[in-house]
Amino acid sequence: MEITRPATEQTAQLIAENWQRVTHQVAEACQHAGRKNEVRIVGVSKYVGPELARQLVEAGCHVLGENRPQQLWAKHEWFSQQSFEQPTWHLIGHLQRNKARRTLPLIGYMHSVDSLRIAQSLSEEAVRMEKRLPILIEVNVTRDDSKTGLSADELRACLGQALELPGLDVRGLMAMSSHFGGGHLARKEFAEVRRLRDALASEFPTAHLPELSMGMSGDFREAIAEGATMVRIGSHLWDGIEG
Ligand SMILES: *Cc1c(COP(=O)(O)O)cnc(C)c1O
Repeated sequence: MEITRPATEQTAQLIAENWQRVTHQVAEACQHAGRKNEVRIVGVSKYVGPELARQLVEAGCHVLGENRPQQLWAKHEWFSQQSFEQPTWHLIGHLQRNKARRTLPLIGYMHSVDSLRIAQSLSEEAVRMEKRLPILIEVNVTRDDSKTGLSADELRACLGQALELPGLDVRGLMAMSSHFGGGHLARKEFAEVRRLRDALASEFPTAHLPELSMGMSGDFREAIAEGATMVRIGSHLWDGIEG
């Protein structure tokens, strides 16, 4: 899905309605799960250009997620050129080490740390900028090799060392389900992420791991039922914009 439609009054209206609907659905899912409405929505803007992303910010979504660093750079630059206040940018996809230097100053959060090497590079850049970057470590609980993220064992080793890095604040885990449509199996995978986080929290008593970034348009309800604190919603926010 790549939406190239120009930004108009009509797209602004549709995006505002989508944002209202999604925030309402997330609140409902919290209520259904017996949780306070403490779940933050990361609006995933990877499907659209900066003009439509800007309309989502205007609708009230102040955290935008991109999975490709170059697209994040491009949108950030556009917001600067237009003198619009930047949303808080979250990187939710793989980052190569040679892109850490350019990316770090632009982001407020990194969801998808998938190796100790990238953690070290981000920490070095953060220290250089006298900043401390909140990060999540991406775990793959699906036993699907095509999926990104660390296995539970790799995660243990990575976490132990990442906790020592001065430029990073390790806040929790990020994961994707292999069942994007939701349902019972997605929920089982999200439950496994939560259990893993709980186990790590007791293995590493100095760690503070309150955050679970899990759930997308098709499975955010299951993720919220299993303790997600951040959901990454893309498609649902752009419903009706394509045509
Ligand atoms: C695209 C993407 C999302 C959003 O997915 P939708 O199904 O469009 O809501 C969430 N997380 C990651 C890592 C993504 O790449």
